[in-house]
Amino acid sequence: MTHPAHADLILDWYDHNRRRLPWRAEAGQVADPYHVWLSEVMLQQTTVQTVADYYRRFLARWPRVQDLAQAPLDDVLTEWAGLGYYARARNLHKCAAMVVARHRGSFPADEAALRLLPGIGDYTAAAISAIAFDIPAAVMDGNIERVVSRLFAVEEPLPAAKPRLKALVADLTPQQRPGDYAQAMMDLGAMVCTPRRPACGLCPVSARCIARISDDPERFPLKSPKPDKPMRYGAVFWLTRKDGAVLLRRRAEKGLLGGMMEVPGTEWLDQRPPAPLGDAPVKAEWQRLDGGVRHTFTHFHLDLSIYRAAVGLGDPKLGTWVTPDRFGEVALPTLYRKVAKAVLGR
Ligand code: SF4
Repeated sequence: MTHPAHADLILDWYDHNRRRLPWRAEAGQVADPYHVWLSEVMLQQTTVQTVADYYRRFLARWPRVQDLAQAPLDDVLTEWAGLGYYARARNLHKCAAMVVARHRGSFPADEAALRLLPGIGDYTAAAISAIAFDIPAAVMDGNIERVVSRLFAVEEPLPAAKPRLKALVADLTPQQRPGDYAQAMMDLGAMVCTPRRPACGLCPVSARCIARISDDPERFPLKSPKPDKPMRYGAVFWLTRKDGAVLLRRRAEKGLLGGMMEVPGTEWLDQRPPAPLGDAPVKAEWQRLDGGVRHTFTHFHLDLSIYRAAVGLGDPKLGTWVTPDRFGEVALPTLYRKVAKAVLGR
């Protein structure tokens, strides 16, 4: 069952208030599936503000999915550096290749076919299907989750409530303009139905919002308490050569930050490594720097000690030697940029 009155109110609000985003089609135009896919993959776990620059750079460098499919993986990882969750970049590259090889360079419209592509889960498949092909798929991101949980005052906490919320979204999604409807709900969540102090006075559906009528919309969505993140510890070895170049090496393809460059270091353990210098890449006069670096991943916090030393001529067999002014040209994730900043003070 659809609720045309609800959808009409939302779409009318959207026509007057839509956000202008670099990946959005102009009003009345259909979005390019490549643009929708690229932006949606980047937006997973990352804010709109951060994504905008990366999106523009990717599109300038690889204007079509065919261009991205042909790019060396290392170039893609380098452009991605700083966005985090690097498995997304590797899947992005694989997905581009598969779209070219299996779908002749055109993204499929159907959610089930989209889900077979690397890095495309339920949410991204629904978003591409709705936004780029105007198919009435039930799109539910964090913003939409919040809006719907408030509209219906859903008492079940997240994440257990997700299937219920998804069913409600499916029920609300109209047959006409489903792509605009999905984007309208995202915008409503981002601009009006915000996590704190929602602007219910500006909301087009406030008259039928149960959370608003019950006077405490901020209570929704309810969330199950998250377990505390554990702490892990490690050490890195900042080794410089006579010309100022620093030793970097490539991480294994699989696992966290897979395929990215790193400052060599120890394993990350539950306790401080008892004898970290045993893992140093060379024997040298290692000095421990005061402080160190803290970084938070999805499932744990990391505390890294930093040791530094210098050698005359760096052995090329140890890894790649890169001067800090060229770090922007290699796929160095945020964690190791923080290490560089701690050592260099900038
Ligand atoms: Fe959100 Fe308020 Fe609108 Fe309800 S009335 S959907 S709480 S902005």
